[in-house]
Amino acid sequence: MRKQIVAGNWKMNNDLKTSKSLVKKIIKKLKNNSLKNTRVIVAPTFVSLEKVSKKVKKTKVEVAAQNMHQAKSGAFTGEISAEMLESVGVNIVILGHSERREYFCETDAILAQKVDTALKNNMEIIFCFGEILEDRKSENHFNVVESQLKNGLFHLEATAWGNIILAYEPVWAIGTGETASPEQAQEMHAFIRKIISNKYNRDVAENVSILYGGSVKPANAKEIFSKEDVDGGLIGGAALDADNFVALVNSF
Ligand code: PEP
Repeated sequence: MRKQIVAGNWKMNNDLKTSKSLVKKIIKKLKNNSLKNTRVIVAPTFVSLEKVSKKVKKTKVEVAAQNMHQAKSGAFTGEISAEMLESVGVNIVILGHSERREYFCETDAILAQKVDTALKNNMEIIFCFGEILEDRKSENHFNVVESQLKNGLFHLEATAWGNIILAYEPVWAIGTGETASPEQAQEMHAFIRKIISNKYNRDVAENVSILYGGSVKPANAKEIFSKEDVDGGLIGGAALDADNFVALVNSF
């Protein structure tokens, strides 16, 4: 049975002190929640990873990095490798976020390399993808999503999919306050499962968690998360507040 997941992407927010205090509050508020089939993940900036990762030890909260370089080491000023993440206790990484694709020119080809490096290091990947508004308006969104998945992930063997979490994030809904309707999210998630099933098999498609991302808030989460093929959310803005974030975790 696939897991429900709520993952908070803190982006370039929270210094070390704020990061430690936010994760502490989240842990406290989740203390009495059994989280039977739900995973809770937070993704602070690189500078806070080590401390936050120490804080979540022996708790139900997990920590992810927001990015990672594809090379093992070398002359890549400002970058962080998979082994470096591992050395501070992090083995989950978000790859392909639309902000990385847009502002840092991360192409499908680069992302495929990052995926391979992460898997080689036994990391779990939250792989993000989604169409821009023009694609949605011109009804090209299914093609865009299919091509992002094919180019970034479909070179993998079926067995590798145990380490993949998908995050469908329509770019027009990220940080805009505009959410895809629960029906639009369900329609796309069902499509994603169908193309994975066609490429691999039903088992792979049914076992992969597919998160929705884009202006998810406590007010709209229940309806979105209740859809059959939506297994939770990748959360930006609402993940910066412990009450909101925990309310999302409690929205299943
Ligand atoms: C995101 O950046 O992944 C995201 C979904 O942001 P927000 O929730 O703020 O739209």
